[in-house]
Amino acid sequence: MSTSPIQPIIARYSNQTLLLDADDTLWENNIYFEQAIATFITYLDHRVHKPAEVREHLNHCERRTIQAHGYGIQSFRRSLIDCFEQLSESPVTPEHHASIVSFTEAIASAEIELLPGVDETLRELQQRHRLILVTKGDIMEQTNKLERSGLRPLFSAIEVLAEKNIEAYQELLHRHNFNPSATWMVGNSAKSDINPSLAAGLNAIFIPHDFTWVLEHEVVDPPAAGERLLELQSFSELLRYF
Ligand SMILES: [Mg+2]
Repeated sequence: MSTSPIQPIIARYSNQTLLLDADDTLWENNIYFEQAIATFITYLDHRVHKPAEVREHLNHCERRTIQAHGYGIQSFRRSLIDCFEQLSESPVTPEHHASIVSFTEAIASAEIELLPGVDETLRELQQRHRLILVTKGDIMEQTNKLERSGLRPLFSAIEVLAEKNIEAYQELLHRHNFNPSATWMVGNSAKSDINPSLAAGLNAIFIPHDFTWVLEHEVVDPPAAGERLLELQSFSELLRYF
């Protein structure tokens, strides 16, 4: 008798609509912001505030900027300048300004680095399912990254939302006339991808990323009756279910 472990056979879902997050689900993103923040904290070199306190203040600046100006590199740059202005004892000079801008330029010019297995997995999934990119942020930045990723032809629609909340998912459901029980939101953020899509009646697939942005941290809600929630360790695992 064979003693090899028996792989469970999972019946795959057929003909589903998969809504896919982009940043830190399909490609690396937050690591570039973290690098810029580390450079900024070193540059500020605060005599009183420890790096963790500077970071805490930056998070506070980011929340305020995002509320007023949305997501994206321009907003991030504004947050760094606000943080510098509020914490440093001297005013922001043109030299300071230029340095801070230079820290953020590396983000915009970073190559798109797809996460492991993403390219092959999406190519297979799009043969059996409808794929829609659902991201948030600046429309030019997000569409530009998608073009550079080479993945654009695999998606039947692209949605760049100002915010990913319950209302935004409900609006998407309504506008595309999705069948909620055959529609899944796939992403790395409990706050933006999982909890609001479950609350809007969709299924969800959580694929955690080790370096998810701190402003996206939240506990995953349990799904309501009839909804399905999967947690996967890697993007390629989607092929076991779809
Ligand atoms: Mg994400």
